[in-house]
Amino acid sequence: MRDIRAALQARREQSLYRQRRVVTSPQGAEIVVDGQRLINFASNDYLGLANHPEVVAAFHKGAEQYGVGSGAAHLICGHSHAHHALEEELAAATGRERALLFSTGYMANIGAITALLGRKSLVLEDKLNHASLIDGGLYSEARFRRYQHAAMSSLSTELANAEESDKLIVTDAVFSMDGDIAPLPDIVELAHQHNADVMIDDAHGFGVLGENGSGTANHFGLDQQQVSVYMATLGKAIGSFGAFIAGSTDLIEYLINEARTYVYTTALPPAVAEATRAALRIAQQDNSRREQLQALISRFRQGAQQLGLQLMPSQTPIQPVVLGEASDCLAMGEKLKQRGLLVGVVRPPTVPQGTARLRITLTAAHSENHIDQLLSALEAARV
Ligand SMILES: *Cc1c(COP(=O)(O)O)cnc(C)c1O
Repeated sequence: MRDIRAALQARREQSLYRQRRVVTSPQGAEIVVDGQRLINFASNDYLGLANHPEVVAAFHKGAEQYGVGSGAAHLICGHSHAHHALEEELAAATGRERALLFSTGYMANIGAITALLGRKSLVLEDKLNHASLIDGGLYSEARFRRYQHAAMSSLSTELANAEESDKLIVTDAVFSMDGDIAPLPDIVELAHQHNADVMIDDAHGFGVLGENGSGTANHFGLDQQQVSVYMATLGKAIGSFGAFIAGSTDLIEYLINEARTYVYTTALPPAVAEATRAALRIAQQDNSRREQLQALISRFRQGAQQLGLQLMPSQTPIQPVVLGEASDCLAMGEKLKQRGLLVGVVRPPTVPQGTARLRITLTAAHSENHIDQLLSALEAARV
């Protein structure tokens, strides 16, 4: 075993020690953390659905109908009607033939990538991909290469140099720590030229982008031939828990049989699936939540620009402020907390060295007044 005390000490010295805070309220625009009420700019509950009354009611009703535990894996006796109906609704929402529920996004990515690739495959991943995509690539038997972030010249070089006939390009659709959108039409075009397949992780786009929130593939009009593996999570904009992969019938039948993180794990509780179905309905029908979110994003960006804050080129609810040093970020996060605001403090190795940042996320549950309070606190706390 490694010297864990030395490892912890090294983290402390580099301002990289991570700790949890204890939350005693539901998620929402305001949250109680370690006994302190804070305006919450740290969650991924982009549409404000995690504590929506209809979603909570569906959860209760689901528990009454099914109890709590699912009892087994999907292939044994754990696949309830709630799971099945949710899968059909997710396929319809994303314009794909079929969808398959996984217990978490992390498991969906590991399971799909390792199942789809073999010893003769090549997997090409954006440098800033989420850890679960990187881990999936590394755990697979494929040759693993990263290309420069969103750089089509770099991707193109990798594709041109590839000797493998069997290639998969994997990318976040909306980058989780930067908030920018991957150039999917260009990626799909390169994939087509080089006979590669494309998998996208739309954890931060599903519910937020595209018509009725149907995601980033829809936003760019890309169908299941062009993006053959579509993955999204249900614990972010949908406000619930779990994840899914959508695509062709063959893809889904293959994953049911071959994805080890699907086969060898207990199905998530059916009541969670019922709550998710209610949340999905609201996410699809209530465009006012997405409109509110876009209005708040514009308000924040305008205000931040007036303050001279350096923003990233992000049109999404993820609005990072890069400070560089982990210690500066920690100090700034602490100052904002004293002013009653919670923001994500993201340090290496989650982001590259020297790019520690405040990861500010906006949600439809925020008001204009919340955004104005954030802006004045950022101005006052500035180093
Ligand atoms: C959150 C996230 C995941 C993991 O999803 P979970 O359901 O939380 O395990 C995967 N990919 C991206 C891009 C994410 O942001």
